[in-house]
Amino acid sequence: MAEMLNMRACTYCNRDYILVHRSDDDGTLLCPQYDHWYPQSKFPLLQVSFYNLIPSCGSCNSSVKSDSVLRPDEYCHPYMEWNNDDSFYYTYYHHKEIGGYKIIAKSSHNNSALLKTVKKLKIDQMYNGHLPELLDIIDLKRAYGENYLKILKNSFPKLNSFKTSDVYRMHFGTEIQEKDFYKKPMSKFKKDILLKLKLIDDDE
Ligand SMILES: [Zn+2]
Repeated sequence: MAEMLNMRACTYCNRDYILVHRSDDDGTLLCPQYDHWYPQSKFPLLQVSFYNLIPSCGSCNSSVKSDSVLRPDEYCHPYMEWNNDDSFYYTYYHHKEIGGYKIIAKSSHNNSALLKTVKKLKIDQMYNGHLPELLDIIDLKRAYGENYLKILKNSFPKLNSFKTSDVYRMHFGTEIQEKDFYKKPMSKFKKDILLKLKLIDDDE
């Protein structure tokens, strides 16, 4: 099932790879964990329901969500509502007391159910383990100002024979299109921060 789904990054956090790989030597299988959206301890009839099995990383499955029941009228099921107007974005601010940056999730809709879900799963807090990645992008901003991707393509004309999404992937190691975020961890986070700093445009 994991091979058929071909999810390469955690459905919830988009931070970790959840690849499927079988060892050539002894057939040892590397595969994602499956979170039960409705916990099997409380909803045993749903324990093998396809829509209740969410391919995820160990942090999201075991450490955070565990047996919590997320009611559908309050939270967003990742197969149903994670890509709609109820969306959210990652951003950051400088925290004076800690003398450094703090990464947070925000939504233009104050009562966004999706934002509530992200906070409940502590995904925004997990991203504070990725401050080095944030600092790299901030350094890029200091060095190049705005429109970094356009500067890059203008500096290396041969790159213009590639699609923008390919140049972006080659350079940042992540995907630019929301529909492709599942292929590469950190895709959403990096794109949100690159947009915030105007290193890329919304239409790229
Ligand atoms: Zn995860």
